[in-house]
Amino acid sequence: MSDLVRGPRIAIIGGGIGGLAAAGFLYRAGLTATVYEQAPALTEVGAGLVVAPNAARLLRRLGVMEPFLRLAVPLEWGWEFRRWTDGSVLSVEQLSGVCERLYGEQTYTVHRADLLDSLRAAVPAEWIRLGTKCTAVHVDPDSAFLRFADGSSIEADIVIGADGVHSVVRAALAEPTPPEYSGICAFRTTLPAHTAPAFARRPAQTLWLGPGRHFVHYPIAGGQAVNVVAFAPAGDYTDESWSATATTEEFHAEFAGWDRRVTDLIAAGGTPGRWALLDRAPLRHWSRGRVTLLGDAAHPMFPFFAQGAAQSIEDAAVLARSLAESPDAPEQALKRYESARVDRTTRLQQVSRARRDINHLPDGPEQQARDTALAASDPLVSNGWIYGHDAEEALAS
Ligand SMILES: Cc1cc2nc3c(=O)[nH]c(=O)nc-3n(C[C@H](O)[C@H](O)[C@H](O)COP(=O)(O)OP(=O)(O)OC[C@H]3O[C@@H](n4cnc5c(N)ncnc54)[C@H](O)[C@@H]3O)c2cc1C
Repeated sequence: MSDLVRGPRIAIIGGGIGGLAAAGFLYRAGLTATVYEQAPALTEVGAGLVVAPNAARLLRRLGVMEPFLRLAVPLEWGWEFRRWTDGSVLSVEQLSGVCERLYGEQTYTVHRADLLDSLRAAVPAEWIRLGTKCTAVHVDPDSAFLRFADGSSIEADIVIGADGVHSVVRAALAEPTPPEYSGICAFRTTLPAHTAPAFARRPAQTLWLGPGRHFVHYPIAGGQAVNVVAFAPAGDYTDESWSATATTEEFHAEFAGWDRRVTDLIAAGGTPGRWALLDRAPLRHWSRGRVTLLGDAAHPMFPFFAQGAAQSIEDAAVLARSLAESPDAPEQALKRYESARVDRTTRLQQVSRARRDINHLPDGPEQQARDTALAASDPLVSNGWIYGHDAEEALAS
């Protein structure tokens, strides 16, 4: 049973972007929690993220804008789509000033580790238990029991599974949904800005589109590094892990014949990481009793709208507010959270999946029609449902 004096015992499994954001928002709401993270240190792989206005406004409310802005890069130049063969510009979306006017916040790019550090600033240090891998979750009507790899176990009033795409908590809640082969993998690398060509150092997110592949780059780390992430056919590769690597030769082979600026960036980067994108059908429910999920554990999505981390931050804000508003009725609070989030995250999973085919059209009439539409479109406006969304306000309405 909950201890009414100090509030429910909330256990967060996973200290990634979603888990730390949840801890930060719970702290802001006056609740207490413990974060159990399997890694011996809080760290993120050397890769970048786009932080769109819908996430930036929540970071501001969390009070972490000051550390975040130290190393985030505002995308003042904007988004730029280019053709794979010769780099001809298919469309440009100026962001400087426009994002703030439309959505009240900028769009940023950031190193994942820098975002994690900013979130950590919102969480009391004593809330975080490192080197603690959860191995099993048992759900009871009034509480939940967690077992850890070191043999210890705890009872919690509320469990939040923020343990990513291979979630142990998800396995305890939902029917297992085996991942489906997507046929695509991501190569990623970062390089020091001084070794990158000038065009890659501009505060722009540049997307090169070609048959079966696309290639993305933008500056991170206060402009000191350039992040490269590229999508290509996976062949029989199925390793869905940030720590798996490929060789530079394999990366080159996928983009042979592309514009020299693309192949130069591949050559200048270090050993690339390689991540198989596996597909999972959206869950209609992700809470049972006192246990729920957030972030990739609940709704992993292809990164083609750059919204996975943003959605985990939105989840965290909504979950904390829902729990704070009904501290004595946690099951209802978790259900309310889930209902506020499931349609939006399902839609993002679906549109992200559809983007794969659009980005990778072979040269021909469909690709020409896509490029014409790109030149005429204004994604900042047409994607207003993504960037304009205020997750906390949506819970209140
Ligand atoms: C190539 C690529 C590019 C992307 N680009 C973007 C982008 O530009 N913008 C964006 O918003 N999103 C992007 N995403 C998505 C984003 O990375 C994820 O959605 C985000 O990291 C999810 O955060 P999370 O906290 O839910 O999960 P994770 O980041 O996976 O964190 C899970 C944490 O739980 C810990 N953990 C796991 N199991 C256990 C256990 N059993 N016990 C204890 N701890 C455990 C892990 O160590 C980890 O720290 C991208 C993804 C990919 C693959």
